Amino acid sequence: MPSGMIHVDHKLPTPVEILLKKLSGCGYEAYVVGGAVRDILIGKSPEDYDVATSAMPDEVVSVFGEKHCHPTGIAHGTVTVVVEGVPVEVTTFRVDGDYMDSRHPEQVSFTRSLEEDIKRRDFTINALALSSDGTVIDYCGGVEDLKAGILRTVGDPEERFSEDALRILRGLRFSSEHGFKIEKETARAMVKKKDSLSDLSVERIWKEFSRLICGTYCASVMRRFFDVFTVFLPEIAPMKGFEQHNPHHIYDVWEHTLAAMTYTPKTVVLRTAVLFHDIGKPQCFEIGEDGIGHFRGHPKVSAAMADTILQRLKVDNDTRQKVVLLVKTHDVPLDPVMKSVRRRLAQYGEEGVRLLLEVKRADISAHSAKSAYRISELARFEKLLNQVIKDQLCFSYSSMNINGKDLIDLGIPSGAKLGSIKKQLLNEIIDGTLENEKTALLQRARGLWKDCQ
Ligand code: ATP
Ligand code: MG
Repeated sequence: MPSGMIHVDHKLPTPVEILLKKLSGCGYEAYVVGGAVRDILIGKSPEDYDVATSAMPDEVVSVFGEKHCHPTGIAHGTVTVVVEGVPVEVTTFRVDGDYMDSRHPEQVSFTRSLEEDIKRRDFTINALALSSDGTVIDYCGGVEDLKAGILRTVGDPEERFSEDALRILRGLRFSSEHGFKIEKETARAMVKKKDSLSDLSVERIWKEFSRLICGTYCASVMRRFFDVFTVFLPEIAPMKGFEQHNPHHIYDVWEHTLAAMTYTPKTVVLRTAVLFHDIGKPQCFEIGEDGIGHFRGHPKVSAAMADTILQRLKVDNDTRQKVVLLVKTHDVPLDPVMKSVRRRLAQYGEEGVRLLLEVKRADISAHSAKSAYRISELARFEKLLNQVIKDQLCFSYSSMNINGKDLIDLGIPSGAKLGSIKKQLLNEIIDGTLENEKTALLQRARGLWKDCQ
């Protein structure tokens, strides 16, 4: 019997409720399971609801009719049932067979027992089931652990991590997202089994890791489990304890990075960029005659390293390119004067500049207590940026009141000369010495063309 049963007052979404009731009306057991129950108990609204049932997959199809069922993961017993237009994943209770390679069970077998299905799950807080009448069924002490904020594997942690190494990263991700304390034996086994992370596909690693770095508590998880992360990010190893010998830096490179991450908005691009912004510093270190540490060229070296790492982890191109550019440019000055704001907009576009502002804000905030002035400069830069956007001031070719055809009509042949005239016109608009107005632009273009001849 389950060790404890509690009731929750939570209105399940109607399609999920209909689904549970229909299955139980046909004599099967059916529950919401896993993360959704955990989220409901901590007062967070679940992103999706997984249903587990004693019905075999073909029985699920008979209950709802083929028209409403998609055999999305039939080998693992999952049928997606569409109820009132909403797809819900329904998985038959199952037990995993033996795991041979820290990743995939050799085979799965179905069972009519909820208890067996629950006990194959990774952590006690994820090993909960909820019936349509609001009863929480808890075979593993998950409710108590959840109340105490403790992350603990179901069963022997070493065994569970040997079966599937991804659980190590999932556990660290839950701890980073929710601040769960990791139970002592579970934590010990995470470190002990860390090398089996190399058996996982990089895609699965990145999927968890990219969520982990976006957690509120990522700094403490990354500090405490540093050695685990070096298994798939060996490049971070030299950052730890690397003293900067610089009065602006109160932290070593790794501690500075962790502090900066906590100041960074929780998006994958920004958190990844900040994680890697100084990764090249140890390679670039020099001590000046004044005894002060310098890291000349480190943004470029860090960017190249970030690029290599993100390619290795098969991260999508868009994310990788944005991260690499941010790392490379994290030290460019953002001067709070209109000319510079518009220049940066011309260079990186609005989205790019806004991202760069966030990276710099996080970086500077984690320097030392003396960074308040530089932070206020960034705020002034941002204010001007908002003004440029609001007033639709020109900072790109597309917003110039003259185009290539107008220039050709003046008799300028298309080619390099025309390109450089256009560029000069844009620069003068940005600098505020030329009005973005057609007659003025044509006149200036004529003058520039004359100078070329
Ligand atoms: P979130 O939705 O926040 O990612 P989750 O716990 O719901 O968290 P899912 O990947 O949706 O994560 O998994 C649903 C449930 O399936 C989990 O709660 C857990 O019970 C079980 N589960 C998922 N992955 C594993 C695994 N690698 N080993 C054992 N059980 C797992
Ligand atoms: Mg989930």
